[in-house]
Amino acid sequence: MVPVHDLGVAALAILGVAFLIGWSSARLNQATLLWGIAHLSLAGATFTGYRYHLQPESLWLGVMATLLTGFFLASLHGGTNFLRGRIIGPGTLIGRSLGVAFLIAVVGIGGDKRAASILVLGLMMLVYGVSAYLCLRMHYRLLAAAFSLKTAAFLLYFLEPSTIGTPFQNPDILSVGWVSSVLLGLVLVDAAIAQTRQRLSNVIKHLPDALVARRLDGKILFCNDRFAQLAGSASPAELEGQQVPLLTREQEEAEAMFRKVNAMVQSGPMDAPMRLERAVTPARGEPFPAEIIFSSYMDLGYPVILGLIRDLSERKRGEEERLHQANTDQLTGLPNRRFLEQQLDAVLWIAHRQHTQCAVLLIDLDHFKKVNDTLGHAFGDELLREIAQALQDQLRPGDLLARLSGDEFALVMAGLPSLMSILEVEARALALLQLIRRQFKSDGMDYQIEASIGVAFSTREGLSAPVLLQRAEVAMYESKARGRGGWCFFESDMDERLAESLRLESALRQAVPRGELRLHYQPIYSCSTGRMTKAEALVRWENPQLGWVPPGRFIPAAEESSLILEVGQWILEEAIRQAAQWRAQSGLAPVISINVSVRQFAQPGFESQVFALLERYGVPPAGIELELTETLLASDQEDLPALLHRLHDAGVGLSLDDFGTGYSSLSYLSRFSLNTVKIDRSFVMGLQESSRNHSLVRAIISMAHSLHLNVVAEGVETWRQYEILKAEGCDYLQGYLLGRPMAADQLRAHPQVLAGEESNIPDAVI
Ligand code: C2E
Ligand code: MG
Ligand code: MG
Repeated sequence: MVPVHDLGVAALAILGVAFLIGWSSARLNQATLLWGIAHLSLAGATFTGYRYHLQPESLWLGVMATLLTGFFLASLHGGTNFLRGRIIGPGTLIGRSLGVAFLIAVVGIGGDKRAASILVLGLMMLVYGVSAYLCLRMHYRLLAAAFSLKTAAFLLYFLEPSTIGTPFQNPDILSVGWVSSVLLGLVLVDAAIAQTRQRLSNVIKHLPDALVARRLDGKILFCNDRFAQLAGSASPAELEGQQVPLLTREQEEAEAMFRKVNAMVQSGPMDAPMRLERAVTPARGEPFPAEIIFSSYMDLGYPVILGLIRDLSERKRGEEERLHQANTDQLTGLPNRRFLEQQLDAVLWIAHRQHTQCAVLLIDLDHFKKVNDTLGHAFGDELLREIAQALQDQLRPGDLLARLSGDEFALVMAGLPSLMSILEVEARALALLQLIRRQFKSDGMDYQIEASIGVAFSTREGLSAPVLLQRAEVAMYESKARGRGGWCFFESDMDERLAESLRLESALRQAVPRGELRLHYQPIYSCSTGRMTKAEALVRWENPQLGWVPPGRFIPAAEESSLILEVGQWILEEAIRQAAQWRAQSGLAPVISINVSVRQFAQPGFESQVFALLERYGVPPAGIELELTETLLASDQEDLPALLHRLHDAGVGLSLDDFGTGYSSLSYLSRFSLNTVKIDRSFVMGLQESSRNHSLVRAIISMAHSLHLNVVAEGVETWRQYEILKAEGCDYLQGYLLGRPMAADQLRAHPQVLAGEESNIPDAVI
């Protein structure tokens, strides 16, 4: 039969197990774990302690009782401390337990078991008393009372000090101890449950979103503080059992939504949450955008609807900010191309509906790159900001202004009446040009900022924004080509030109890799020796789809894109390779004239590219001549004179092509290091008929000679022209009379010397 005092042991053990079960369902509640350990330890300590008193020779029982008592005291204290947020680790717990056990053992080994019992009793009273005090401070009044009762119960033990902790204690005193222990255990279980509940309610209370649970009749089961605040209540408790207030201005819409959710829930719990975005109007304050999420669950067999209101103001603000940034040019603060294209589509649609017109004025600054490169980007940025501000200041209602890229702005004029709009736009373009035009001096240099404007109108057929912008761009380039600082309206043939150049460009892109390009060579004879001293390399392109494309058509298209760089490099290498081959094969060494376009010269590394090719193929610099255009000399390429000088010094020939057709500025002839001037074919053509042309040719030759330049006459087609040019002292002659452009091997077979007799002149084609 179980001794009566072991009933208390069993009661304590059951309490300990109950705590551990509670802990297994709410693991983060460390108090229940520690109290479980405490009560199991107490049960163990009492069990072994009693037996030690009955068999004092069994020392291990004494050791166990002491150790378990230490565990009991340390874990009970730890559990209570957890309630005020102090968490202890297993190491600390074991350390403290062993410390207490050691203290008891020391006193016990000192020989006085009674003193050890009184010490244990004192420590227990201390721990329970401190726990009572802590609980009182934390307003766990019931728990504080239970701890106090337990502390007080210990006082009874002092009525019979000799029986403390033994099985010989007075059963009445023992009963009071047990009852107080069981009471304390029950209250502790309640406190643990309350703490778990408190934690859950804290989560809901501090949820930033408003949360409400309601029944189908609209009465609130519970809600959190945020919801109560939105509903204008002081606390959630005030709202419980009340009808849910509708937090919206559109009452009808809200009620419909309410009914819809009810109907969904009546037919069973919702499968997935329902999400809506609505403006929520709180009882006090401004409406705000919110996400409302409905879900449902069953509570004691009744459906409950859970509503969550999430404030989206912050997110919306962020989105608006991002949208603003995505649509705004950071430098000037003006709308950017993306925004303009979006808005322009809407403007065009309205114009189409209202039978009005709109115009896009594409404004591109002239010579901005020069300012940027010489005066620095900070200066360039400031200038752009200044111009953007000036453009903005002149805006009229309905206008749309944007910075498209770099130095390119677009102004959209909307709602123009169809008639008269050209005049209005013209006046506006003129005003814009004046507004932008400015001059300034820096470091002794004069700078002039102007703009070129391309204008495109919407049409009846309705154009898309990108097409209209592209048309304005085409017109703007046309305006630049006609001389900067003006404006130009888009015309349909510009479109065809654009399409043609795009077609050519895409076919040309494949021309080099597919080997569709060839070089032909046209002989150039010296008048004094009659020898073929030079040959001009002329590119030929045969495309399977387009057929034979003359260079006059595709070179300008290549120049508009950067394709000319790839094509030009191929020409340069092929011409030098051919020159090397001729030299190696037959000693035939005409100087090869190679046409070079402006963009090739502007390309960094052009000079080293030329020298590298000459070296690779073993051709001396004097074996080639570069044909330049007047456009190159007129371009404001800063380092051009120095670059030409270096090439010239190295021995590379430099000739000015098509002289007389362009700017024909005499200053170019003296300013740049040139060797040769090529008189354009148009002057040679009219030599016989026009005495004016004759005089011009004579003047060009004598002027060139006075500057120590050689003269080549291009396009010599007749024997008469040949005679005149020779008589005028022209140095070299080139033309169909002397030889058409031909493949490299044909040139080898072509007469190398002109005998001066008509019969010796190779097959003239007139
Ligand atoms: P260009 O450099 O002035 O070349 C002379 C053009 O006049 C060549 O036309 C040549 O075939 C033509 N020509 C020569 N003698 C006569 C003649 O007696 N009568 C007539 N009617 N024409 C004659 P092509 O080959 O069609 O070249 C046209 C233009 O294309 C060239 O003018 C040059 O500006 C450009 N080009 C040709 N090849 C190249 C090249 O390899 N690179 C670059 N950048 N441009 C090139
Ligand atoms: Mg040429
Ligand atoms: Mg020429």
